[in-house]
Amino acid sequence: MYLLAATATHTTINPGLLIFLLAAGRAVWYAALCAVRPFKRHRRCQGLGRLHAGGGRIWKPCKGWRGCRSTGVRLRLGRRVYAYLKRTRQAGQRRTY
Ligand SMILES: [Zn+2]
Repeated sequence: MYLLAATATHTTINPGLLIFLLAAGRAVWYAALCAVRPFKRHRRCQGLGRLHAGGGRIWKPCKGWRGCRSTGVRLRLGRRVYAYLKRTRQAGQRRTY
């Protein structure tokens, strides 16, 4: 009963609105992050662009389907989505005649 009374008295702060604002804030922050720093360090090779091959001093380039093509950086997911949307939009605007 206390919880019910508490929610009834605090009508100025809507918890749903608060959650929405937090989510919107996070989305804005992520969008800004994608705009300012589109690349992040590749986790698999820790930004080195190469990997240890076995236990010795041998290095092999970070390649393959999960690799970063030896650049050491990966494009953020948000930025990849943005690039995809931009490409799709440009493809739609392209004249076909
Ligand atoms: Zn890598």
